[in-house]
Amino acid sequence: MKRRKFIKKASLSGAGIALGHTLMSCNENAENKLVTPVTTSTTSSLPLVIATWHVENATAKAMEVLQAGGSSLDAVEQGCRVEEANEKGQSVGKGGLPDRDGKVTLDACIMDKHGNCGSVVFLKDIKHAVSVARKVMENTPHVILAGDGAKQFAISEGFEPENLLTEASKEAWEEWNLKSEYKPIINIENHDTIGMLAIDKNGDISGACTTSGLAYKMSGRVGDSPIIGSGLFVDNEIGACVATGLGEEVVKTVGSFLVVELMRQGRTPQQACEEAIGRIVNKPNSNYKDFQVGYIAVNKKGETGSYSIHQWFSMTKFQDGKNEQIQSDFFNKTKAT
Ligand code: ASP
Repeated sequence: MKRRKFIKKASLSGAGIALGHTLMSCNENAENKLVTPVTTSTTSSLPLVIATWHVENATAKAMEVLQAGGSSLDAVEQGCRVEEANEKGQSVGKGGLPDRDGKVTLDACIMDKHGNCGSVVFLKDIKHAVSVARKVMENTPHVILAGDGAKQFAISEGFEPENLLTEASKEAWEEWNLKSEYKPIINIENHDTIGMLAIDKNGDISGACTTSGLAYKMSGRVGDSPIIGSGLFVDNEIGACVATGLGEEVVKTVGSFLVVELMRQGRTPQQACEEAIGRIVNKPNSNYKDFQVGYIAVNKKGETGSYSIHQWFSMTKFQDGKNEQIQSDFFNKTKAT
């Protein structure tokens, strides 16, 4: 398919742009309404860390920081860096799948217990986007830096530029480029886009999120992950939430802020995640069967929740010496594969 046709097709289908690894093809269930909220959370001991997908190495690193008395902010940054450096993960940092011009561009953000935040969008050639986001938060009067400005800032802070496109990701892009066509992919195995939330020994909450975004996206496309309130939100009085999946849908409902506000109104993290997914799937004409969105959340008591539109979303949770992957409950129960 020619590029122009691809643009047309993508825009005609609304959110219909290939989400690479996180987009699933699912059967529609017109009858399917939001399932009765399940309250699987339990009040928990601290510290704790949760992350999107199965990223036990990353949560282990974050827990190591927390156990050593480190802050939740240090923990989420260090945890995310593990996946950014993991070249095998094709949705974050080095080795991330590129945009359709073959360029890897990263989005990331971080938020601390005071509500301070920093973010980078369309960052090229710097693997540790989450750490650049932290520097934006701590060393500039701004919240978001984009593109060349973000890269120049990173270099001025001592980050080394490097080529983020690995051979494996280049090959995958070249293969995609043969047809350049939009095609939802069922792939449950390679989810490394990482959103992480932690509560430290003092009970303070921080969060971070880092991604290479939608595989083969239009150049310049930015998803939800670096948008405070959409991909991530932390309110140290209430709790925190982080999102994964098709960012366009998360942005439209300001998903993570919504989850935190629902917790403020008394919902458990589980109930809040389910209600936020409900806002997406219950929209008139929602084409939710074509895309995946998942949320994980934690409240001030250390109760956690996670929920997604389709099956196979999971949360990694490290608490009380146990670092485990937990399958999320999901909305579209019919004929999920
Ligand atoms: N939310 C990310 C984005 O839309 C992608 C992902 O979570 O896999 O850029």
